[in-house]
Amino acid sequence: MTFRQDHLLGIEPLAQDEILSILDLADDYVALSRSREKHADALRGLTQINMFFENSTRTQSSFELAGKRLGADVMNMSMQASSIKKGETLIDTALTLNAMRPDLLVVRHPHSGAVDLLAQKVNCAVLNAGDGRHEHPTQALLDALTIRRAKGRLHRLNIAICGDIAHSRVARSNLILLGKMENRLRLIGPPTLMPAGMSEFGCEVYEDMEEGLKDVDVVMMLRLQKERMDGGFIPSEREYYHRYGLDAEKLAFAKPDAIVMHPGPMNRGVEIDGTIADDINRSVIQEQVEMGVAVRMAAMDLLARNLRAKREAAA
Ligand code: ASP
Repeated sequence: MTFRQDHLLGIEPLAQDEILSILDLADDYVALSRSREKHADALRGLTQINMFFENSTRTQSSFELAGKRLGADVMNMSMQASSIKKGETLIDTALTLNAMRPDLLVVRHPHSGAVDLLAQKVNCAVLNAGDGRHEHPTQALLDALTIRRAKGRLHRLNIAICGDIAHSRVARSNLILLGKMENRLRLIGPPTLMPAGMSEFGCEVYEDMEEGLKDVDVVMMLRLQKERMDGGFIPSEREYYHRYGLDAEKLAFAKPDAIVMHPGPMNRGVEIDGTIADDINRSVIQEQVEMGVAVRMAAMDLLARNLRAKREAAA
């Protein structure tokens, strides 16, 4: 196993071998999670605090389950939006938490960069569970594991990421990870939801779904991030669905064995047709949720190994 990080703040700092180490270990944890006795003790004796300053269903419960399966003491803290109005508050909260001697701190925050800042103030391993539009590393890792298991490889695939690219940390982390693994990436969406300069990152940019989906192996749909929009980015949801919503007609342009992904929560009838989302022959959306627990187990296990080694060296 090669993993040199003290924190998991994003995909950006990870090398290819570190990404593969997480995915390989996660494969073992999928097997463990499917067995009758779902417990291991990689995190026994450690305290994990989940601190979510933004709503979450899947990610928070997945981190909680991952910690519990590996024997950690897990505490969930739901932070009120009012407690983050001032920059100082975040630092104060971090210092207070640090005094409780956590070993793993899982943080979601609406501001890009907030989790990095927090990591500088505490002496435990910090995992970014999504910061603003910046990164959502465990989402990209679980997506990578899902793709690798469905397609048998994680390189030289044609992958389309579709919809609200501009506001999506999922798109950003996936672009970085899938790029590092040498895939051919396409971004599809209306110009209002497409950040400038994306073609310079080596991806092809399309405005038209049918054109962009031609012969892709993977179709990754994104939620319209209405909470991050402060103006009219789309004419109407109906119009958006007509042009960018994934339905059988548009999916027919992809390869016949192309898989359909969505990080959730889904807006059925806005970015994806419910029938496609539920089609077990095409959609791997439920697998993504399952892989999420395993990937988080693997990431916390690897970080805890480094944390223990560092503490032993310092003792
Ligand atoms: N759950 C993902 C995130 O937190 C995707 C989304 O919310 O659309 O970024």
